[in-house]
Amino acid sequence: MHPMMEWWVEERVKKVVEKLKAHHFDALYCKTRDEVVKEVQKYITPEMKIGVGGSVTIRELGLLEQLKKRGNTLLDHWAPGLSQEESIKIRKSQMTADLFLSSVNAITLNGELVNMDGIGNRVGSTIFGPGKVILIAGYNKIVEDVQEAIRRIKNVAAPTNARRLHIHVPCAKVGSCVDCNSPNRICRVIVIHERKPALTDLLILLVGEELGF
Ligand code: SF4
Repeated sequence: MHPMMEWWVEERVKKVVEKLKAHHFDALYCKTRDEVVKEVQKYITPEMKIGVGGSVTIRELGLLEQLKKRGNTLLDHWAPGLSQEESIKIRKSQMTADLFLSSVNAITLNGELVNMDGIGNRVGSTIFGPGKVILIAGYNKIVEDVQEAIRRIKNVAAPTNARRLHIHVPCAKVGSCVDCNSPNRICRVIVIHERKPALTDLLILLVGEELGF
């Protein structure tokens, strides 16, 4: 990254971290993906059961392989070869995991989190249940406000994710939202964290690199 761009990203991310803290979240800036991986590991002991949300960011970090080697049980519904019953069981168990690890669809400059889900286990686990929640996001997830967050989710995150997962919805073909009524529609629930949920220990790690989409 060009040094001027690095400066711009850092300034932007640090401002959002301050806003998140003002909204009672724990929040921290990590300059690189290596830094964020080291930071996450500080909170994880080998006996912990880790719920893993449907997140490309988390997979891109290579963190799951490291946690598996350390002996952690991963509750990962994207693990290959699961039956539908097994997948549902894992999604439910994420909600009572020792720690839930995921990303965020968008974070506003004012310090709000915006997430959209098709099933709800990912957003549900960020509200109440797990012993601790850690959300990791690249600077590319920062948006102006809630309206821009929803536009970004429907026109960037949803089409790319639907296409990646081979889900037959219109945005996976045309690359933007047509507000479909498909039985396969993946955006069904919007959750906005205006403040940290009262009984949830929630840490947001914002990274000065692009992660996920
Ligand atoms: S409403 Fe349909 S077309 Fe729009 S983003 Fe969601 S799944 Fe895609």
